[in-house]
Amino acid sequence: MHRSPSFALGIDIGGTTAKLALVTSAGQIVARAQVPTGRKLGAEDLVADLATATGRLLVPITSGPTVVGVGVAAPGFRAPDGSGVVNVSNLPTLDGFPLRERLAAALGLPVIIDNDANAAALAEYRFGDRQGARRLHLVTVGTGIGSGLIVDGEVLRVSWGGLGDSGHVVVQRDGRPCACGGTGCLETLAAVPAMVRAAQAAGVGVEDFRALAAAARAGEPLALAAIREAAGWLGMGLAALTHVLGPERILLGGGATDALGDLLLEPVRASFARHCQPFLRVRVTFGRARLGNDAGVIGAAALQLMQREA
Ligand SMILES: [Zn+2]
Repeated sequence: MHRSPSFALGIDIGGTTAKLALVTSAGQIVARAQVPTGRKLGAEDLVADLATATGRLLVPITSGPTVVGVGVAAPGFRAPDGSGVVNVSNLPTLDGFPLRERLAAALGLPVIIDNDANAAALAEYRFGDRQGARRLHLVTVGTGIGSGLIVDGEVLRVSWGGLGDSGHVVVQRDGRPCACGGTGCLETLAAVPAMVRAAQAAGVGVEDFRALAAAARAGEPLALAAIREAAGWLGMGLAALTHVLGPERILLGGGATDALGDLLLEPVRASFARHCQPFLRVRVTFGRARLGNDAGVIGAAALQLMQREA
């Protein structure tokens, strides 16, 4: 059946900015905008800012293809009834806020809300390097570690609207305290702050991750060792998750992967191979996420577009 072209608006709400994009059903971004967020902004003000930015984005296409609705990718867990997000540490104003209802009223369009890792995983499944896998695990490595699993085109929701908090799976007994209140979480050993900390402890004179990534790319042995240390933990954590989730393909994304590429991916894969049982190990392939910072908005829009395909 022929379908007329349609767009959805994707909104990816982050700790410092919210990105908006008009996305086609083929995953192409045709227009974008951005509004600041941050801890000082109230939820109602954020809704008003998003409405203003949306109005500007939609003006040029009011006589063209239809905008079918809005998909929102937000941090935290998706509320069980889909009304918003909960457990949002970097934007507490959104915690329990009825975002779906308020945005739908402000924009005059249907709104779907999901966790940002789920949205990114969906985008990579539909438009990234899936290579035919039916069970795709996307893992983002940045300031934190997030992940989403797509099974046969649908977000797998095993815990709190998705994969719970994979970055906080405990991999080290009596380990370092984590921002979540636990200790020894995967994030405390494998995310960007852990890489920088390990490098500094080894005497690499780097102030931040940018400098560390540059040193690693330049072949500085101690910088590479710090990356490998984090990658070792990450590979072990991914093996543990694989024993439960059984993905066919794992894609690494996020800022650390974008900056380090194979310098991160290869040692992760090696550690994974050491820690994963053979039956599963030979059935998993690794790759890199392709959509970068756009995965959230594209996946958010895809959530809404999928409704129309059903
Ligand atoms: Zn934690």
